Amino acid sequence: MADYYNLLGVDRDASFDDIKKSYRKLAREFHPDINPDPSASEKFKEITTAYEVLSDPDKRQRYDLGGDPFSQFGGGQGGFGFGDIMDAFFGGGQSRGPRARQRAGQDALIQVEIDLAEACFGTEREITVETAIRCEKCGGSGCANNSRPTTCGICKGRGETQQVTRSIIGQVMTSRPCANCQGYGSVISDPCGECAGDGRVRSRHTINVKIPAGVENGNRIHLAGQGEVGPGGGPAGDIYVEIIEKPHDFLIRDGKDLHISIAISMVAAALGTVVEVETLDGKQQVEIKPGIQSADAVTLRGFGVTKLRSNTRGDLIVHVEVETPQKLSKEEQELLKKFALSRGEKLSSFEVHNRNKHHDGLFGKVRDAFNR
Ligand SMILES: [Zn+2]
Ligand SMILES: [Zn+2]
Repeated sequence: MADYYNLLGVDRDASFDDIKKSYRKLAREFHPDINPDPSASEKFKEITTAYEVLSDPDKRQRYDLGGDPFSQFGGGQGGFGFGDIMDAFFGGGQSRGPRARQRAGQDALIQVEIDLAEACFGTEREITVETAIRCEKCGGSGCANNSRPTTCGICKGRGETQQVTRSIIGQVMTSRPCANCQGYGSVISDPCGECAGDGRVRSRHTINVKIPAGVENGNRIHLAGQGEVGPGGGPAGDIYVEIIEKPHDFLIRDGKDLHISIAISMVAAALGTVVEVETLDGKQQVEIKPGIQSADAVTLRGFGVTKLRSNTRGDLIVHVEVETPQKLSKEEQELLKKFALSRGEKLSSFEVHNRNKHHDGLFGKVRDAFNR
């Protein structure tokens, strides 16, 4: 991307007034109405683009951060257009100058699906893009045999023609884009055979995209200048790679933490046990202490997802659900009754504890997710 500050000859911390003053001065020097040199109109276009960016706080900030100030993904399409600037400086209804042959390429959004492990550890993807690249034969100019566009003989390089029409309010002067040159102010009389004057050709190529550890659903990776080349061999647009994270079969992600739900038997819960839990780092032995209650959780530190742009990882939280045995045999029923009596429990009226707390919070969400 062009150095807009350099183009306008201002410092990077220039105020809006400085920028406006500098643009006015340059615009009066290079405006095509004042300066007939064809290269002046190109220069005028460049300083106008620079002004459009640096005079708009949003666009200026995006530009300062290295992004595309005109990106449709980085914010609104607001602000003013080329015509508005012309109106502001030279009065409405006057010449707006020829269209630039060279324009910036469009940005593109490409979605890439990855799984949880790839999101955690990072990965690479080859993506194939159908796009436009600069025509090598003419170097983007669109002209054959090193020729150059010639000034349009109809509009004399202005890019528009004026017509006087009669209406009920009298004579009205209207301007319209010149039909001979489509408003460019110049014509390519000897177009490049490869690109037919467009300065770019279709191409299919692959890009290797590095997906950093810690990305999550909806994140976008910005590949500056990897999009299509603009008309007339103009600067390439950007590619945004959007991450689509496939849900895992049993691990539920919450930022950098993961959650898993396991079921253990009533007896194992009472006596304690060791269970094997599937994690992103393979099977792990998890110690369950005697007397664990349903909905209690055990935390495996560092078994969660990598934090973006860091080496630290979140935790894996193992939610334990104690299963009450069903379909007991006669013998098993007798054993349990004996067990209860040995503890002095009356089988007809067990004390009911208020265990509502176990149904609140994250565990409830995890369980809901599983039951869905
Ligand atoms: Zn070409
Ligand atoms: Zn013309």
